[in-house]
Amino acid sequence: MKLLLIEDEVSLSDALVDILKKEKYQVTPIYDGEEGLYYAVSNSYDLIILDVMLPHLDGISILKELRKQKIDTPVLMLTALSQEDDIVKGFNAGADDYLSKPFSTAELLARIKALLKRTGQYIYDDTLSYGNVTLNLKSYVLSTPYNSIKVSAKECELLRFLFSNPSFVATRDDLINKVWGFDTEIESNSIEVFISFVRKKMNFIKADIAIVTVRGVGYRLEHKNV
Ligand code: CA
Repeated sequence: MKLLLIEDEVSLSDALVDILKKEKYQVTPIYDGEEGLYYAVSNSYDLIILDVMLPHLDGISILKELRKQKIDTPVLMLTALSQEDDIVKGFNAGADDYLSKPFSTAELLARIKALLKRTGQYIYDDTLSYGNVTLNLKSYVLSTPYNSIKVSAKECELLRFLFSNPSFVATRDDLINKVWGFDTEIESNSIEVFISFVRKKMNFIKADIAIVTVRGVGYRLEHKNV
């Protein structure tokens, strides 16, 4: 689950990053409005946490621009208690929810879960299944009735993406965005090598599904013909 955090108060941002990482979210912290907009537009996130008062470009303007560009990633706005106006403006601009500072950790996590659930992204029991394979998103264990194996965080992210969209061809760009982050430089053959490791693990546990290469496009999950 990838979160973009646009908040210029470094101490608050650092604290939020710690909390969110403990909950296994991947967080990208950005401290500037213009840079935040750039990240929000050029990468895909499951949720954006957006402060209102930011250097160079304020949160409301960022949100308006995102919605104008038809980017409908859920947005949780952070507002100061005194800024009732911002809440109204935020909702008008397309915010999904807001939190007034100061807020508790529990409240923040509850709002995030609620938003991800609303958009169908939140997984209740921490597992995803396809074919005879179950992926545990908390313990990073990939299993079938025959065997189980541990996967790395990146492998888990890849499988989560494929399992969530089983009928869908994941392009190389999708995978780079979802697994490595768009600002990572990664060679095409590194993806192939990475996928081949995951395939070996799936063979090891006798999976009845496989990651197939869709030539020139990307990858898709398929049931094996047995
Ligand atoms: Ca601020």
